[in-house]
Amino acid sequence: MGEPDLTADYLIVGSGAVGMAFADVLLTETDATMIIVDRYQKPGGHWNVAYPFVTLHQPSAYYGVSSRELSKGRKDEVGLNKGLGDLASGDEVMAYYDTVMRHQFLPSGRVQYFPMSDYKGEGRFVSMASGKERRVSAKKYVDATFLKTTVPSTHTPNFKIEDDVRFMPLNDLPRVERAPAGYVIVGAGKTGIDACLWLLENGVEPDMIQWIMPRDAWLLDRANTQSTEEFFENAMGAQAGQMEAIAQAESIEDMFDRLEACGYFVRIDTDVRPSMFHGATISTLELELLRRLKPNIVRMGRVQRIEPDRIVLDDGEIPTSPDHIHVDCSARAISNDEIKPIFDGDTITPQMVRSYQPVFSAAFIAHVEAAYSD
Ligand SMILES: Cc1cc2nc3c(=O)[nH]c(=O)nc-3n(C[C@H](O)[C@H](O)[C@H](O)COP(=O)(O)OP(=O)(O)OC[C@H]3O[C@@H](n4cnc5c(N)ncnc54)[C@H](O)[C@@H]3O)c2cc1C
Repeated sequence: MGEPDLTADYLIVGSGAVGMAFADVLLTETDATMIIVDRYQKPGGHWNVAYPFVTLHQPSAYYGVSSRELSKGRKDEVGLNKGLGDLASGDEVMAYYDTVMRHQFLPSGRVQYFPMSDYKGEGRFVSMASGKERRVSAKKYVDATFLKTTVPSTHTPNFKIEDDVRFMPLNDLPRVERAPAGYVIVGAGKTGIDACLWLLENGVEPDMIQWIMPRDAWLLDRANTQSTEEFFENAMGAQAGQMEAIAQAESIEDMFDRLEACGYFVRIDTDVRPSMFHGATISTLELELLRRLKPNIVRMGRVQRIEPDRIVLDDGEIPTSPDHIHVDCSARAISNDEIKPIFDGDTITPQMVRSYQPVFSAAFIAHVEAAYSD
């Protein structure tokens, strides 16, 4: 154990959206110095390895750091988000965080940034490029890795895939050069939705797509998540509707019925009762397009294994072929359900203190850190 060769007020591990939002508020509201460490080569966290057609699913106005607007302040005029606030693409999110780091954080002289660096604990991190170890002495440690966002390109599916099966994360879909016999989308969260929409938008007929949906999801109507005055009635109406539904509900089931009746929740298939809710938002146009896939939804539980000629699921099996492309959308964005104290001695662990707002929550927690002594 060598002596520390780096010192700062804060050691922040993770330069994803959470670490960046936290550091930004400290920069604006304090004189603190900080060291930011991350395994990726650029700030932005999971957006480094996102699929080429990814976008935010909430308006850009809610994302990024407090001191710099990510939103272009305009509505989409074309496409499936037409009429609603702009959704930054993955490339835009990456370029944005690069600008924040290179033109704000580093020129401040108060931030030292160590990309390509694996944090090992106890103030120690190792450069993945050079192998060099550094030791940090900091007054506070900020764990901005805690939400454990997983994405298809970095996660290992929890089912078996036999040889001769064409299987890919949705990142590789744009590289398909020859139409397969069909597409099988595994997973029904935000990435599964994105994969289906991308195929449909690229002219793939619905009967070429099978959608393995272990559970149906309640979804949020994106029109209710807009930040502009034009959508005041949607946004505030949905909040009021939510409170009324919760107050008047006589059971959990009744609450979900009421939340749907007031327009807070929507679902793809109104004949099937959803049993999951991960906070994904959807536009009316996206919902209409996805409903074209209703006859092709496979509800037989989770995939156990994919063989060249069949897919074995918990509750049955369906045929497939080596000419089918199986697309992995089974990663679960925020995968950590654990809750721990945010402020715990010298350690700060940003978590969500506002529903569906990891980034706002991180900025808010940093403000509390900056403004209150205990
Ligand atoms: C496709 C998609 C779309 C999304 N859209 C939205 C949206 O519109 N709005 C919204 O609010 N949320 C959205 N989310 C949710 C997501 O949780 C947030 O986008 C947010 O990026 C989470 O940030 P994070 O910093 O917690 O995680 P990450 O982006 O995963 O960042 C964590 C960082 O920690 C680093 N790290 C981990 N361990 C170590 C270690 N030992 N040493 C060094 N570095 C380490 C990682 O390299 C990574 O860069 C979306 C998620 C996905 C997958």
